[in-house]
Amino acid sequence: MMATLTKSEQLIGLEEKYGAHNYHPIPVVIEKGEGVFVWDAEGKRYYDFLAAYSAVNQGHCHPRLIKVLTEQAQKLTLTSRAFHNTKLGEYEKFITSYFGYDKVLPMNAGVEGVETAIKLARRWAYDIKGVKENEAKLIFADGNFHGRTIAAISASTDPSSYTGFGPYIPGYITIPFNDLTALEKALQDKNVAGFIVEPIQGEAGVVVPDDGYLKGVRTLCDKYNVLFIADEVQTGLCRTGKMLACDHENVKPDILVLAKALSGGILPISAVLASNEIMLTIKPGEHGSTYGGNPLACAVAMEALKILKDEKLAENSEELGKLLRAELNKIKARYPDVITTVRGKGLLNAIVIKEKAGKTAWEVCLQLADNGLLAKPTHGDIIRFAPPLVITKPQLMECVAIIEKVISEF
Ligand code: PLP
Repeated sequence: MMATLTKSEQLIGLEEKYGAHNYHPIPVVIEKGEGVFVWDAEGKRYYDFLAAYSAVNQGHCHPRLIKVLTEQAQKLTLTSRAFHNTKLGEYEKFITSYFGYDKVLPMNAGVEGVETAIKLARRWAYDIKGVKENEAKLIFADGNFHGRTIAAISASTDPSSYTGFGPYIPGYITIPFNDLTALEKALQDKNVAGFIVEPIQGEAGVVVPDDGYLKGVRTLCDKYNVLFIADEVQTGLCRTGKMLACDHENVKPDILVLAKALSGGILPISAVLASNEIMLTIKPGEHGSTYGGNPLACAVAMEALKILKDEKLAENSEELGKLLRAELNKIKARYPDVITTVRGKGLLNAIVIKEKAGKTAWEVCLQLADNGLLAKPTHGDIIRFAPPLVITKPQLMECVAIIEKVISEF
């Protein structure tokens, strides 16, 4: 007789049968979320230590976000940009003064923000810098992750991102991450429009550059009249212990790309911030998106940004991030044959797992899930620990105990 499947197993079966196989999830089916917790279809509770790749910094289903969402949804959700709407101007004023930029261009997914930044940089190179038409170049860092469009994967150095999707976008230069000498060499090319970089490489496995790297990038970009474009889609909005990861070195990028936690996990909202000089190179009809700047997104994004400050999430991320790394380092010292590295900033952290008897970080994550903590491995041996920033110290210590238990049994 065939064993009856659980509700979760049935639902996984539906995804397997009817969905594209472009993801390989941990076999947990989540039905409900609140704050740092999620519950699966059988009602088991977990700490969420991925926070939807840092989109849920404010915690799952934050009541203030749900309130703003439902109130605005009952009034007006979408006009397209063919007309004005009552929320867009208010939002644009709010977010530009929040981050200190002249202008914002609203989009939806993070990768659309990056695409927009690429287009802005090229247009700025032609209109302002004086690069000859179609000759602009962009510099990217090895190990980058900027999303999944052709423009983004053309910059990727990860074969699983780009293989089989060519031909790629021309005019890209890649240099090692965290290498100012390589950057200065690449900047000798007069056609370079911009350097696009993540202040900490998230998808690469939380790769933190040396102190002073971002300052050096700022200085070099100024010296060679090249735009410094920061992709803070993952590192921004308090994730690394400051509002922006660039704030750790007090540098201001020329173009700032935000997404993910800009909606606190409610809907896809991205934003590109820049000066008048850069932003006004794009004229009416030359770029846009049906949903970009929709009133629902504007209302949610303003509330999401207010929550970050009202709940002091940068401070909590900084303080609990230090505590988490200190505790993880203690576990590493006790089990050096399992954990080889602990790294991160704020609550964007990772451990590197040494493969043991064929068992990898994947098995560690399955065990963590069994014990009520959700995390996902990346690149085979790295596990990211990035809980919602609303996590409290007692909750964090409970999670540390779960991690230690699993590591000790590995
Ligand atoms: N840029 C960075 C640094 C990211 O981490 C991601 C997603 O993980 C993206 C861009 C793409 O964002 P989205 O998946 O919303 O397109």
